[in-house]
Amino acid sequence: MNKALRRPVIAGNWKMNKTPDEAKALIEEMKPLVADADCDVVVCVPYVDIPAALEATAGSNIKVGAENCHWAESGAFTAEISAPMLKAVGVPYVIIGHSERRQYFGETDVTVNQRTKAALASGLKVILCVGELLEQREQGITEEVVRYQTKIALGGVSAEDLKNVIIAYEPVWAIGTGRTATAEQANEVNAAIRACIAELYGKDAADATVIQYGGSMNAKNAAELLAQPDVDGGLIGGASLKAPDFSVIVKAASV
Ligand code: PEP
Repeated sequence: MNKALRRPVIAGNWKMNKTPDEAKALIEEMKPLVADADCDVVVCVPYVDIPAALEATAGSNIKVGAENCHWAESGAFTAEISAPMLKAVGVPYVIIGHSERRQYFGETDVTVNQRTKAALASGLKVILCVGELLEQREQGITEEVVRYQTKIALGGVSAEDLKNVIIAYEPVWAIGTGRTATAEQANEVNAAIRACIAELYGKDAADATVIQYGGSMNAKNAAELLAQPDVDGGLIGGASLKAPDFSVIVKAASV
């Protein structure tokens, strides 16, 4: 599989952190540090920070993403935000299926699929998260789990729409725990996801699909993870809230 066919994407997932003023300040700090990045740089921010983030990133190489969206276009879904709403305010990216949504908010593979299709139909780029629980890794079923999640999430997604999907392999046991998958583990699962994409859409589509790793990626371990042939970038939680650390990861993806 030819890594040169893919442009790495480094995306921050800010989770439930930062007020709009704090978001603006963090982006202003990041801008000069990532200005010469040779990869795509995205910050996925809380909904209320989106206007401030769009304003602060205007004219820069940093793109803004949301952290979720609903599957319906509109309707009686109190507190939810739809994909057309995100598109209307000018957000290009959205994370779907993050393990915290699956773990704490009842997200299922089926709703991940519904949200993915809604986001793609609105012209958003989707960062689609898959990953196994610790007990699933210990049972030796990691590949089955991520293949299952990937297949259901992409049900009904056309080859054309797949071009707007980034997959983030995020082992749940590595998220926010400080415990990172080894570079070999990350590459092995990313390769399995790519093989699954090849089965579904063919080798060319699989070669073109960006597959990130996420899970305690930081300034120290990023270079080794990102050097792996099937790791095309990262989805970064904690370290994306510190501009110097985030910029080191961006630089590691740019070589
Ligand atoms: C994440 O939230 O997607 C994530 C990978 O978090 P962390 O980097 O903090 O493990």
